[in-house]
Amino acid sequence: MHKYDYLIVGAGLFGGVFAHEATKRGKKCLVIDRRDHIGGNTYCQNVEGINVHKYGAHIFHTNDKAVWDYVNSFVEFNRYTNSPLANYKGDLYNLPFNMNTFYQLWKVKTPQEARDIIDRQKAALGDAEPQNLEEQAVSLVGEDIYQKLIKGYTEKQWGRACKDLPPFIIKRLPVRFTYDNNYFNDRYQGIPMGGYNKLTEALLEGSEVRLGVDFFENRADLTAQAQQVVYTGKIDEYFDYSLGALAYRSLRFEHQTLPQDNYQGNAVVNYTDAQTPFTRIIEHKHFEFGTQPSTVITREYPEESEPGSEPYYPVNDDANESIAREYKKMADAQPNVIFGGRLAEYRYYDMHQVVASALKKVRVHFGE
Ligand code: FAD
Ligand code: UDP
Repeated sequence: MHKYDYLIVGAGLFGGVFAHEATKRGKKCLVIDRRDHIGGNTYCQNVEGINVHKYGAHIFHTNDKAVWDYVNSFVEFNRYTNSPLANYKGDLYNLPFNMNTFYQLWKVKTPQEARDIIDRQKAALGDAEPQNLEEQAVSLVGEDIYQKLIKGYTEKQWGRACKDLPPFIIKRLPVRFTYDNNYFNDRYQGIPMGGYNKLTEALLEGSEVRLGVDFFENRADLTAQAQQVVYTGKIDEYFDYSLGALAYRSLRFEHQTLPQDNYQGNAVVNYTDAQTPFTRIIEHKHFEFGTQPSTVITREYPEESEPGSEPYYPVNDDANESIAREYKKMADAQPNVIFGGRLAEYRYYDMHQVVASALKKVRVHFGE
C-alpha cells in the first residue's frame, strides 16, 4: 500500500491545480518543492505591505471563461490592465504597438497613415512567410519599430540574434491600429487581490506540502510513497540529460526598496535599447494600486541558464525543439508519471495555459 495516491513534484500552478483536483476527488497528495515556498514562479513576497513578484511581473489574462471562473473561485481578481511603456534611449513609447506608438514615432494620426508607413518599410520582404523573429517583426510593424522597440530587447532577453529565433515569440504581442495600450487582447485580465499566494495556498489546501525537498536527492524513496507521480520540473533533468541538456533562458532579479511612494508611475517599463543591461523595471505596488509610503522596484537581467541557475524560459528554437520532442516521446512511455507545466512540457506557457493544461490532463487522467 502506498501512503499517497500522488507525489506532485513542484508546488507551482500546474502542481497546485492537479493537487486541488485530485484532493477534490478524494485522493491523497504529497506536494514537494525544492524551493522554500509554494507558488513556483508566481510567488509573491510581502515587503513593506507590497506584494513583490519575486520571479518577475505576473499578469493573469485569458480568453477562456472556464479558466477565468476557475481562478476566481479561489481568489478575487482586481481590474489591473497591463500597459507597459518602452524606454528607448530616453524616449518613451506606448506598448503594445498601437496608434499611440505610431504617433510617438512618426507623428501619424490615422490608421491609414500608419499602415502606409509599415507597408513601405516591409516591402523588401515580399510575400514569403516569415522564417524567423526578425522577418516576422518587420512584416508586422516595419523596420523602425523593429530597430527601436524589438531588436535590442529581444536579443538581450534571448541572448540570440533575432534571425535565429522563432517567429511565434513576437506574435505574442498585439499590433493595433486603434489608440489602445492594453498589452493583451484577452477578454479577462487582472491580479489576484492580495497577491498570487492566495491562489496557490487555496489550491494546495488539503494536500501535504513539503518545502526544500528536491525530488532528485531522494527519488526512489519519494516515488515509492505514492501510486503515481506528477512531475512539473525540467523534462531533460528527469531523464538525466540523456539526450543532452535543453536550453533555457534565466533571469537575475535585482530587487530594491526605495523610500519614495512612486518611482516610475507604471508597473512595467521596458528598456528596449541594446546597451542597457536589463530588459525591464517592474514597480510592484502598481499591480494592486498600492498607496504605501515606500516602493519596491525590480530590474530584470537576462542570462543563459547554467547548472544551478533557475530555468525560466524554454528556448523553443529548432535545435531545442527537436531534442524536446524526443524527451516527450520518452515521457509518454513512462508508466505512472504525468508530465505537466512549463518545464516538463518545455512550452512557453502563460499561467492561463498552465491552468487549462492541468485541468485537461486531470480530465483525461480521471477518464472524465
Ligand atoms: P513553475 O512555476 O516553474 O513551478 C514548477 C515548480 O517545480 C517550481 O517551484 C520548482 O522549484 C519545482 N521543481 C522543479 N524541479 C524540482 C525538483 N527536482 N524537486 C522539487 N521541486 C522541483 N504568465 C502569465 O500568464 N502572465 C505573465 O505576466 C507572466 N509573466 C512571467 C514572467 C516571468 C519572468 C516568467 C519566468 C514567467 C512568466 N509567466 C507569466 C509564466 C508563468 O510563470 C508560468 O506559466 C507558470 O508559473 C508555470 O507554472 P508551472 O507550475 O508550470 O511551473
Ligand atoms: N518584446 C520586444 N520588446 C518589448 C517587449 C517584448 O521585442 O518591449 C518581444 C521579446 O522578444 C519578448 C517577446 O516580445 O521575448 C514577448 O514579450 P512578452 O512581454 O510576452 O514576454 P514575457 O513577459 O513572457 O517575458
